[in-house]
Amino acid sequence: MKEIPGESLEFDAEPGGSSLESSEHLPSHWAEEALKLSENKYRELVDEAASIILRWDTRGHVTFFNEFAQGFFGFSEQEIIGRSVVGTIVPEQEFSGRDLSQLMKEICLDPAKFEYNENENIKRNGDRVWIAWKNRPVFSDKGALVEILSVGIDITARKCAEDALKEREQHFRTLFEHAPDPVYIVNMETRFVDVNQQMCRELGYSHDELLDIKATSIDAQLKSRLSDTAIEKLHTEHGRVSYETVHRRKDGGRIPVEVRLSAITLDGNPCFLAFGRSLEERKRTEARIRELAYHDPLTGLANRTLFRDRLEHAIAQAGRNSQLLGLLYLDLDRFKVINDSLGHVFGDRLLIEVAHRLQSCVREGDTVARLGGDEFTILAEAVNHVDDVANIARKMLDVLSGPFSLSGHELSVSASIGIAIYPLDDVSPDQLTRDADTAMYRAKEVIGNSFQFYTAEMGAQVKADLLLDTQIRQALTSEQFILHYQPQVCLSTGKIFAVEALLRWKHPDRGLLSPESFISVAEETGLIVPIGEALLLEACVQMREWRDAGIRFERIAVNVSGLQFHRSNFAATVRRALEQTELTADCLELEINENFLMQRPRQAISVLMELKELGLSLAIDDFGTGYSSLSYLKQLPIDRLKIDRSFVKDIPEDPDNEAIVRAVVGLGQSLRLDVIAEGVETPEQAAFLMAQGCDEAQGFLYGRPVKAKALTRKIIQSERDHESLPG
Ligand code: C2E
Ligand code: MG
Ligand code: MG
Repeated sequence: MKEIPGESLEFDAEPGGSSLESSEHLPSHWAEEALKLSENKYRELVDEAASIILRWDTRGHVTFFNEFAQGFFGFSEQEIIGRSVVGTIVPEQEFSGRDLSQLMKEICLDPAKFEYNENENIKRNGDRVWIAWKNRPVFSDKGALVEILSVGIDITARKCAEDALKEREQHFRTLFEHAPDPVYIVNMETRFVDVNQQMCRELGYSHDELLDIKATSIDAQLKSRLSDTAIEKLHTEHGRVSYETVHRRKDGGRIPVEVRLSAITLDGNPCFLAFGRSLEERKRTEARIRELAYHDPLTGLANRTLFRDRLEHAIAQAGRNSQLLGLLYLDLDRFKVINDSLGHVFGDRLLIEVAHRLQSCVREGDTVARLGGDEFTILAEAVNHVDDVANIARKMLDVLSGPFSLSGHELSVSASIGIAIYPLDDVSPDQLTRDADTAMYRAKEVIGNSFQFYTAEMGAQVKADLLLDTQIRQALTSEQFILHYQPQVCLSTGKIFAVEALLRWKHPDRGLLSPESFISVAEETGLIVPIGEALLLEACVQMREWRDAGIRFERIAVNVSGLQFHRSNFAATVRRALEQTELTADCLELEINENFLMQRPRQAISVLMELKELGLSLAIDDFGTGYSSLSYLKQLPIDRLKIDRSFVKDIPEDPDNEAIVRAVVGLGQSLRLDVIAEGVETPEQAAFLMAQGCDEAQGFLYGRPVKAKALTRKIIQSERDHESLPG
């Protein structure tokens, strides 16, 4: 064995302090023997050793490098002896800036500290290796430091395994910390061993605060859940326990949670890993689903399903207790107009406010529901007297009549309410609802802003209407609808200048029917649209015949239902009828009911404009009954106002009607519109009208509605009479 003499450093050292025997990691007998390197007989042994053995002097130069080290690091003895350990087997960067002599000094002063070191070293081929080193200073006889003896073993494999383990631990830690739900570990004494961030967040405690308190003060059920038998089960069978409990927050709040416990071993100690999941969200979602399934999303009121359910229950209960039950069916009057003119957002706000007001009229247990649109139903339970239900209806009409101030608009609404009483009207939920609905329609028909109790007659009416509907359909296909014609005369001359076509139904059983007996049903069912179209064409055909026969008068007036007006492409239908009969538009007048015009004013104006462009004449029928506003009237492209016959009827006895007629005539004059009076039956009425400046009239005084043939004769006669008049 070669010995390279190096500088010796004078240190006081305690040679005994750096014994290798204490190491658990190194084969100490090899190290022992290495210490006696000077004895040649051990050289062989050292070279055979499966450990790295080297010595280096005070300058850091290698003085001895055993065969194993040579093979391990890839340096031959010649290559390594005399070279610095730094830069050969110790990576340069590890030592950068460090003073080697200082290090040696430290080894001498505190050999125990260097007894066991793990370092990253480098092989000749650049491979990095981890080595566990045992370093021991070697002193001269005089006690001076001569060399360091280092014995090392390769621990690279263990190091890699440790790193992988650390990485996995880190991975699990991250999962634990970032789990969206609370995760925590409790020991057998029910103390928290670890808690994740979500647990801290949910409970409002810091991590350390939680480790200081018992888990049982957070979860009151934990103790019983961890009863001896449960624990045994958990640990022996690797079972899991899951239960719903309540976690107490630091601020005293409570969170419903579902906890899943499993048994684990942590650092050799049995523990429990717990996953908590807040049930608040689930409970909220469940509640929301329930809410959506049974409530109207706009107003929050019960919906049709819930209402039906409550009604069934209420009927059963009322039956058992022999009590009355009131079902109110409420529909807002003219809501469609509000919705169309002020927009849906406004309409929605109004409905919400209406819902609030309706709820204020009932007792706690009563149900207010919204069936859709502007239809509400109210269930008044445990009613003692029918009057109590009437009082609720009155109260509702009253609260709704108060002004609504919404989005800068102030308006009032009214409603129509129908009432059905269990068990007086019916005992089945569906029929009771239908009864209340029928009564509501009746309330609306009568005046609106009122309530009606269901009566057996109403039921009969509904049935009759149903029958009528079927019959109207049959009448349409078997051409039972015909037209009669009534003359319109010039008041000053008595000359027929126009005729109005009036619908009649040649009913197979009931004879000739006036439209008043069936037109409302035809309008409700929409049948008036095909009926009206057919009649318009028929009127034009008749006008063509009169023209061809040389019967002279200015025009034919045809009544048009608002439904025809609003639904179909009406102007096109009219143009087609005129084209088919080769009539010029000026010989046709359309009469539109004032009420219909007011229902959808904006749409009405645009259709009227279209019609006006065709060149025909337009009249407002039943004028005075529909509350036209003057400003609105001014915008309409109309030619004629027809004073409703109800105002003409009592002239000259009724001063109110006289005043109305006077006002309408005045209005017509100022708006430069022709005014015709309907229902003129007496010469007095005619005289009064003429005195007011009304030029035109229609009524039994001049002729009843009759078939075309009869009217033809009348017109010819009228013409003859006029021709024979002097002048
Ligand atoms: P209207 O358009 O106001 O027609 C005038 C109504 O007054 C007619 O009733 C007519 O017979 C009646 N009448 C005329 N002169 C007198 C009179 O001196 N005294 C009395 N008491 N009544 C008189 P009618 O034919 O029963 O028609 C009723 C309503 O039915 C019409 O009122 C009109 O609104 C509607 N109507 C009639 N024909 C049609 C039609 O073809 N289509 C549509 N959509 N509605 C029609
Ligand atoms: Mg008319
Ligand atoms: Mg009329």
